[in-house]
Amino acid sequence: MEKNEGLYPQVPGNQVPQQQYPTAPMPAPTVMSTPASFGPNSATLTCPYCHKGITTLVRAESSSKTHLFAVLLCFVSCCCIPYFMDSCKNKNHYCPSCNAFLGAYTN
Ligand SMILES: [Zn+2]
Repeated sequence: MEKNEGLYPQVPGNQVPQQQYPTAPMPAPTVMSTPASFGPNSATLTCPYCHKGITTLVRAESSSKTHLFAVLLCFVSCCCIPYFMDSCKNKNHYCPSCNAFLGAYTN
C-alpha cells in the first residue's frame, strides 16, 4: 500500500455525513386562517371571525397603483381616468356580518 492518503485522513466517500439537508423541504402549503387571495367578485365562504357563512362584500378601493397612474397621467392631462378604472383598484373583501377585512384582490 502506498502512503497516498495523507491528505485525507478520513475516507471522504460514503462516510461523509450529509445530514445538513435531510430531505427536500416540502413546498409548504401555506395554511392560513384567512384566504390569501380573492377574485374580483364576491366569494362565498365561512367568515373566520364570526364563523358565519357569508358572501363577501367587495369594495373597490384605490390602490397605490391607481395613484401612481394618476400621477403619471397628470402629465397627459387626464388624471381622473384611473379613478374610474376598476381594474386599477384593489377589490377588498369584507364580511357583511362583522365587517372584518378578509382579503384583497389586486390586479
Ligand atoms: Zn364575519
